[in-house]
Amino acid sequence: MKSLFLIILLTGLWNSGKAWQAVTHDFPEPEDTRGKPVLHQTRRAWKTGAVYASNRFPGARLNDFRKVDDSTYRAVILPENKPVNKSPWYAFKLWSAKKQTLRLILDYDYADHRYFPKISQNSKDWTPLDSARFSMHSKQDALLRLDVGPDTLWVAAQPVVSSADVADWCVMQSRHPEVRQEIFGKSRLGRPLRMLDIGQGPALEKRVVALLCRQHPPEVTGWFALQHFIDELLSDSDLARTFRQQYRVLVFPLINPDGVDLGFWRHNAGGVDLNRDWAYYRQPETRQVANKIVREVQKHQGTLVLGLDFHSTFEDIFYTGDETENPPVLPGFKDAWLTGMKTNLPGFEFEEDAAPEGKPVSKSWFLAQFDATGVTYEIGDNTPPEMIEQKGRVSAKVMMELLLNAR
Ligand SMILES: [Zn+2]
Repeated sequence: MKSLFLIILLTGLWNSGKAWQAVTHDFPEPEDTRGKPVLHQTRRAWKTGAVYASNRFPGARLNDFRKVDDSTYRAVILPENKPVNKSPWYAFKLWSAKKQTLRLILDYDYADHRYFPKISQNSKDWTPLDSARFSMHSKQDALLRLDVGPDTLWVAAQPVVSSADVADWCVMQSRHPEVRQEIFGKSRLGRPLRMLDIGQGPALEKRVVALLCRQHPPEVTGWFALQHFIDELLSDSDLARTFRQQYRVLVFPLINPDGVDLGFWRHNAGGVDLNRDWAYYRQPETRQVANKIVREVQKHQGTLVLGLDFHSTFEDIFYTGDETENPPVLPGFKDAWLTGMKTNLPGFEFEEDAAPEGKPVSKSWFLAQFDATGVTYEIGDNTPPEMIEQKGRVSAKVMMELLLNAR
């Protein structure tokens, strides 16, 4: 009897350990994702003339602040390390003892200006700067005209959404009776990695959808789309309620919390693009997320059928796989989903770029690890909020309809 107990115990330990881990994959275009040094900006405030600037808040990036002449200032913006994707993120706050209008140069190293400035009076509600107040100072650098005074003015590349904001959102979502929040790991610098587990009833043998977001810190339009997507999944419609009975959804809302809070352009605190690390999992964030997905699916004998990874880029585009070479468990789903979106979003422009497996990115990992359809879901940097909401909701609705019919 005792030995039987021991065998059961050991089997349990085995199952909770090594057996449920992501396997490594040899993709055709491997990348070196070993950790590299990063430049940590000094958190500080600057006082120059009557004007103050500060990077003392999560998500900020401001590497230096200098006065050029009586009305002109220069904000220096540097990447965390190089080479890096040219998505220069900036975020800082400004104030001044007296009200004045100043000219501010966004002085980038390494990349050209990309993100049109957003401003905020409270760090929560953001609006694009009046376009008459924006011009290019040089081919690379931007020039902003800003009204500053005793009240703080936030200036950023996109609305600032920190790891604390995402944590608040997770708590709000977990008030829904069919959502459970779990902290399953830690980033390189110790920030929690969170998962939402959505579904009604036991997870056993359910089909599973995985949703990933913010491997790349500045890409908040993708994050906004994910929020609307989940609003639709958690809605009270017959479709959503039936879907939650039959499917399980695992949500990883913030895969790179260090990069987000440190105001990085692209990488994690190990100086690596996490969306090139889905082969050997050399970074703690990708390793833990990949293992968590595998563990959750295998523990409950589920089948992962779809992985969507939310990002932002210059345009609305879906990066998909070549299904003729490697058919997924739901062949045809991807085409039907994109067609359904086109039908239900008249007037929306979006592209598809279907390519065979190449780099170790999450969409290819879903196929390699699970034979699941993998899609990189890219929202344009400048896609208006109401379009993001419609697209997030419609893409969720069409997905639920197709997946329920696929049973
Ligand atoms: Zn991205």
